[in-house]
Amino acid sequence: MKQVAILSGKGGTGKTTLTASFAALAKRPVVADCDVEAADLALLIPPTNKKVNEFHAGFKAIVNRAACTRCGVCVGVCRFNAISPDIVIDPLRCEGCGVCVDYCPEHAIFEDEQLAGHWYEADTEFGPMLYAQIDAGQENSGKLVAQVRKRALERAEEGGHEIVLIDGPPGIGCPVISALTGVDLVVLVTEPSPSGLHDLDRVLELTRHFKIPALVVLNKADLALDYAAHMVECIEANGARLIGRLPYDQSALEAVAAAEPVVRHGTGPLTTAIEDVWKVIEEELTTAN
Ligand code: SF4
Ligand code: SF4
Repeated sequence: MKQVAILSGKGGTGKTTLTASFAALAKRPVVADCDVEAADLALLIPPTNKKVNEFHAGFKAIVNRAACTRCGVCVGVCRFNAISPDIVIDPLRCEGCGVCVDYCPEHAIFEDEQLAGHWYEADTEFGPMLYAQIDAGQENSGKLVAQVRKRALERAEEGGHEIVLIDGPPGIGCPVISALTGVDLVVLVTEPSPSGLHDLDRVLELTRHFKIPALVVLNKADLALDYAAHMVECIEANGARLIGRLPYDQSALEAVAAAEPVVRHGTGPLTTAIEDVWKVIEEELTTAN
């Protein structure tokens, strides 16, 4: 079984559009939407939820007021100033370090796991889909990404699926590292702009660090021809392989409105270009066998 992560330096570069089309082109994939802060793959591949799971992360201190004698020990030991003189814990300041729990002579404080989001197991027209949504303001999205990936792999093994497609989070932070570690191939989606190039360089550095082969797709390549040519030179100079230049095409927006992958929506130049890109990815995966 192969795992392919589709990544981009920032959101809005067409990563999800491409992932949805790959899901339609692949043979019986399992799809994992690991962009847990903005899970929108479901807009293009409508899921039927089979199971909703709670995601718990981090700990916060809770005071049992009936047992508390207001001795103030906890106020003194909390180095995050999370406990007020009247022994009220500010959940935004509490780091869940547990020191107050240890020091409370009355055992009146305990740590409570926090509900931080949900993750979903679903079926789609193209195969099983795992996706998640972390609650606003919650951290630990890397842990939630790891959970989604773990279940996606299990589903692939249970159902004899040969490929797991991972729609990764944008950027290069902890959730991205969670999304790409151990994958067989990374597909980087970028756009012809200085910020696109900068972001691409950063993600390429990451893939090199983890020794994962990376292929690059230049989206909206015809919107800034001069800069696109410059980016192609930079990509090659960087030792990366450009496998496709996707044209700007209104059908991408129409596909979103129709809630389906572009390759299912139309037969225009964008569809053809994505199909060509997918063929290269399939070849690459076969060669890597
Ligand atoms: S240390 Fe325990 S008993 Fe003392 S004020 Fe804090 S919670 Fe209450
Ligand atoms: S768990 Fe740590 S941070 Fe939270 S209130 Fe207790 S001592 Fe402060």
